[in-house]
Amino acid sequence: MPSTMQALVVLEPNRFEIREVPVPTPGPNEVLARVRAVSICGTDAHLIRGDYPGFWPPSFPFIPGHEWAGEIAALGPGAERYGWRVGDRVAGTSHDACGVCQKCVEGRYNLCENYGREGLHRQYGHNTQGADATYVVHGVKCIFRLPDSLTFEEGAVVDPASIALHVANRGNVAPGDTVAITGGGAIGLLAGDAARARGAGRVILIERNEGRLAKAASFGFEVVDARDGDPVPAVRRMTDGLGADVALECAGSPVAVQWALGLLRRGGRCAAVGIPTVGVEVPIQRIVLDELELVGSRASAGEMRRVMPLVEQGRIRVREIITHRFPLGHYDQALSTFVDRSSGAIKIIVEP
Ligand SMILES: [Zn+2]
Ligand SMILES: [Zn+2]
Repeated sequence: MPSTMQALVVLEPNRFEIREVPVPTPGPNEVLARVRAVSICGTDAHLIRGDYPGFWPPSFPFIPGHEWAGEIAALGPGAERYGWRVGDRVAGTSHDACGVCQKCVEGRYNLCENYGREGLHRQYGHNTQGADATYVVHGVKCIFRLPDSLTFEEGAVVDPASIALHVANRGNVAPGDTVAITGGGAIGLLAGDAARARGAGRVILIERNEGRLAKAASFGFEVVDARDGDPVPAVRRMTDGLGADVALECAGSPVAVQWALGLLRRGGRCAAVGIPTVGVEVPIQRIVLDELELVGSRASAGEMRRVMPLVEQGRIRVREIITHRFPLGHYDQALSTFVDRSSGAIKIIVEP
């Protein structure tokens, strides 16, 4: 085992470099993994820009990255009791929750009430060293066996796939439902497949980016081009004036939240996973009179294992949304391609 490794170190907002840093040591019930593929998430771009000061990350310098796959290189004390061996192929997720608070005990560990408390909770790549490095330490709660049929780069997209399944679950998508999705990035596309896995009859995806509209259409979704005007009447026209049973808000922009609520059928439900950085006005009168429901959806809670067979069977498509690959040493190029909406980038894989 080498004593140092390459890592993407963010020194301060918008300033990062590849550095040689010590290989971390796995503690009790942790493993050290050799990272083979890590995918860039919208959160990474925000975090590197310094959009969540003092929170994600708590301080600089910081190593981000939380959507990854690789193989176990070393076991910390006790990890073998959970069946792990050196060489096992795994996909990671970020929330390593306390397991003791009421929300954890009820299975909602994404809402851990000890969030960020030293020694009780960590979120890899957010408030603890992430996977943009040759090696990463993860607790056994945050690693999941990667089937042989999935490549490491596909494995790196299992975490966002679990988040998409979570938002479809939060939306209570029922068989035959018409599901509208605002935002055709990785989560929006994955959420369309997750809605179908739950039995959605129709998936209508709203987007304004040419490349993403084409990708959504190639996935077999009905598309509404938001550049052609307000998508709310368009969705109503497509649904005999009634609206969609469920909206999954995957864009995180204020106008998309308003579309998602506006296009709902009476009694409809909107689950929001996009995180607007500013406040949004919501139509409380309609929410009351039409008994609309609006719920949040944060990360995933138990969906990593459940999504694995759906990814393996191609029912939630991950290979199809991987558009670019870069070595870790070219992270600057990878990130600028990711944030450039004209590049056609959806998921970018970085290989340490
Ligand atoms: Zn992510
Ligand atoms: Zn907890």
